[in-house]
Amino acid sequence: MLEVSGLYHRYGKGDGAHLAVNDLTFTVETGQLACIVGPSGCGKSTMLRCISGLIKPTGGNVSLQGKPVDGVPEDLAVVFQDYSRSLFPWLTVRKNVEFPLRWRGLGKAERRKRAEEALEWVNLPNVGDKYPWQLSGGMQQRVSIARALARRPALLLMDEPFASVDAQTRFELEDLLRKVQRQNKSTVLLVTHDIDESVYLGDRVLVLSKSPATIVADLTVDLPDE
Ligand code: ADP
Ligand code: ADP
Repeated sequence: MLEVSGLYHRYGKGDGAHLAVNDLTFTVETGQLACIVGPSGCGKSTMLRCISGLIKPTGGNVSLQGKPVDGVPEDLAVVFQDYSRSLFPWLTVRKNVEFPLRWRGLGKAERRKRAEEALEWVNLPNVGDKYPWQLSGGMQQRVSIARALARRPALLLMDEPFASVDAQTRFELEDLLRKVQRQNKSTVLLVTHDIDESVYLGDRVLVLSKSPATIVADLTVDLPDE
């Protein structure tokens, strides 16, 4: 479970200071797909950087599985909007997915098994030997998602993950994420500026105000299982 309490972040000091995030408090329960939606520039990326330990917030607390986040936590994975810069072009798809597993001390056979499994989850069972540049943008983003899921993170953070693909591919990827998330009971926090996407995907939708980001609504989306 993720707990964010009184999160506050200001860039710079004195006259040039800019308050980007103002007193955010929320939790994401294990197994939940929570979406955060807000206008461009409202502070969503700043909030994600604070949660992922990439920047130290000016104030407030973030904890994952009861432990305060200090530095980049090992059991957290991030998927960014820009898939073209997230995969290593000189590694095959399989090696890309296996790569972060090396740091977890997993043996070669186990890494391979997890990579194959994750590529099946995202419906890409036969592309392990290809290179990222041989795949379409939507397929590359599926590989990025597979790489994150192969680590079996306690929390998957997604920053506008479908904003760089065409509308048709976006619908496919949204359905795929929903299916994989339910199947694996993954805990996901997804940030988007697209209100339709947030309502379609989320079990829960947190709505942010314009800058500085503050929660103005916290909605539970209770849809029957498909
Ligand atoms: P979003 O992800 O919602 O588009 P950001 O978190 O990127 O919003 O930005 C929130 C506000 O903080 C914006 O006004 C932006 O210009 C500002 N900002 C973002 N990064 C920095 C930075 N490194 N230094 C100063 N201001 C920043
Ligand atoms: P996004 O909306 O996807 O977060 P932005 O255009 O807000 O993208 O920011 C792109 C990059 O520029 C980020 O790394 C952010 O930190 C930086 N940035 C944004 N606004 C400012 C700013 N006012 N001063 C310095 N860096 C900024």
